[in-house]
Amino acid sequence: MTEKQRKIVHIDMDSFFPSVEILDSPHLKNKPVAVGGMPERRGVIASCNYIARKYGVHSAMASHRALMLCPHLTIIRTNMDKYVKYSKVIREIFAQYTDKIEPLSLDEAYLDVTDSKFHQNSATLIAKEIKKTIFDTTRLTSSAGVAPNKFLAKVASDWNKPNGLMVITPKIIDKFILELPIQKIPGVGKVTAQKMKNMGINLCKDLQDLTKFELIQHFKNYGLTLYELARGIDEREVITERIRKSLSVENTFSEDLKTLESCLKQIEALFEDFSRRIKKTDNLKIAKLFVKLKDNQFKQVTFESSHYKKPSIEHFNILLKNCYTKLSTPIRLIGIGVRFEDLNSENTQLQLDL
Ligand SMILES: [Mg+2]
Repeated sequence: MTEKQRKIVHIDMDSFFPSVEILDSPHLKNKPVAVGGMPERRGVIASCNYIARKYGVHSAMASHRALMLCPHLTIIRTNMDKYVKYSKVIREIFAQYTDKIEPLSLDEAYLDVTDSKFHQNSATLIAKEIKKTIFDTTRLTSSAGVAPNKFLAKVASDWNKPNGLMVITPKIIDKFILELPIQKIPGVGKVTAQKMKNMGINLCKDLQDLTKFELIQHFKNYGLTLYELARGIDEREVITERIRKSLSVENTFSEDLKTLESCLKQIEALFEDFSRRIKKTDNLKIAKLFVKLKDNQFKQVTFESSHYKKPSIEHFNILLKNCYTKLSTPIRLIGIGVRFEDLNSENTQLQLDL
């Protein structure tokens, strides 16, 4: 028996942060614009518009480097409150069409419109109208993808960006998936992609040549997921409420920290910020604490321990000392945090059932 065909819409705002900033500074329209940290404070680009992308600017790039590539780039300091405000407006628009909304970030969400009553249940028309409503309300453009599952809906929204709409109907999946590059598969990062390339696998159709057994041999458990995704199959539900898995705070310093003592001093300030945020998660059980360090060569080390479950300056100091010995150059970033127990894991499930 086949289950009812689902209808998933993935909406992604087009270069959200810079687009919001341009609304407030219309003179920047049609100019390269980025949002992020300032170059003199070693900032990085959080997001940039499509004009800036033509110069090779992209997110996570050092602002200093972005300015070398595009000297007339306007960099605006990240203004999160403003983006959150717009994000709320957009989510309210989503909610007019379905209750099943899974936000992925401020500017991106999956919507399950399988049972939506609008437009005689045409997901394509619903997606079109959502895009229009967002634009009429905010003057911001978005891109939408429509497909029977999350994986393909996300691929589709990315296909004709910006201001795009693409529909992958059940009928065309088998053909469409063949030529899809493996980088489009969720979970295939740089390392896995390289591994696949070394095996001569570039497209989903190459993956389809491998048996389940071979996929597991090469990619462990993920092999089974790959077997399905390479055929355009993805059963993941649209999850309305996300369970928080971790909470952390971090700080990048404008001047490198050259000694252990100077690092330890920073823990206090971070802990204050952390304590404020952890108060809002009192229904979650802490599984472990961790400290993250990054040196000025961008090497990153995380040290975590389930031995310490109570966040305190003292405990984070111990973890930091462990972490510090693994790096030999000055430190530019320190992060402290906790991981929560996974409420979906079998153990916890049993406890809940009792
Ligand atoms: Mg986006």
